Amino acid sequence: MDGGAAAIGLKGCRRVRGAQIRHLLDAKACFLFDCDGVIWHGEQAVPGAPRVVHALLRRGKGVFFVTNNCTRPRETYVRKFRRLGFTGVRREHIFSSSYCAALYLRDVAQVRGGGVFVVGCEGMREELREAGVPYLQEEADVPGATIYDCALSAGVKAVLVGHDDQFTFLKLAKASCYLRDPDCLFLATDSDPWHPLKDGRILPGSGCLTAALEVATGRKATVIGKPSRFMFECISSQFTGVDPAQCLMVGDRLETDMLFGSNCGLDTMLTLTGVSQLEDAEEYSRSEQSTKQCFVPDYVVDTIADFLPAFEELD
Ligand SMILES: [Mg+2]
Repeated sequence: MDGGAAAIGLKGCRRVRGAQIRHLLDAKACFLFDCDGVIWHGEQAVPGAPRVVHALLRRGKGVFFVTNNCTRPRETYVRKFRRLGFTGVRREHIFSSSYCAALYLRDVAQVRGGGVFVVGCEGMREELREAGVPYLQEEADVPGATIYDCALSAGVKAVLVGHDDQFTFLKLAKASCYLRDPDCLFLATDSDPWHPLKDGRILPGSGCLTAALEVATGRKATVIGKPSRFMFECISSQFTGVDPAQCLMVGDRLETDMLFGSNCGLDTMLTLTGVSQLEDAEEYSRSEQSTKQCFVPDYVVDTIADFLPAFEELD
């Protein structure tokens, strides 16, 4: 059995390089990448990542970016890709949790009148605007307003929670009141707990705000981003012939990216340039709990630049 066949035949935390990666490149038609920790760190591309993406596109592979980061509209992502040296990435390749939330509200929930109360950021509002989903304008509450005396809108159809660095107790209270109506949908862009920053600092994620609202209302949010399947459904509804068996999900976080891949029936690859480490994956793979196996990647690489030698051999 050659290395390539072994890579496809064996499952679970398999370190791949050289021939095995070449085999994966042959076997897979679509590559889904998480962004932060996989192809870039903030404003810095992971070395070699732009060449990997370019080489995949040049070979006619489907390349999609699936990110739980809801703060930027896709147009801003397109500019970031360009700025960081990625060529050929188009808007339709990018599936962010804010874009997919807007699609959900428009196509699945079919929100028309009434509007969405957004506990979130401008990137979310911009995607809603573009999808034609009405949302409540952020009218400034009178100074010192409280939940006892602030204005509440009638007929709110959904509460959408995401990253919100202007989060206040009053917003939490208002959202809780809107969600008293069982017909008012409760959506979250993602349930990420936190994100790494420099110098050991962390940025609390949308999951914290969603959790606060879940406690206040006794309800559970419908989560749009990874690990929920909805982002993959967005991809497969827009691109014909996207077959889960021919897709590889590449990510840096076991609990979101690998679980997402597993939920969607995709093979998964952990890259060690981000949050999760090999030891974390191995610990999950040793777990007796079957649910933990969904966090275990099929393949592991140090960085997606490990794809590069395989491309060179194919050229
Ligand atoms: Mg990541």
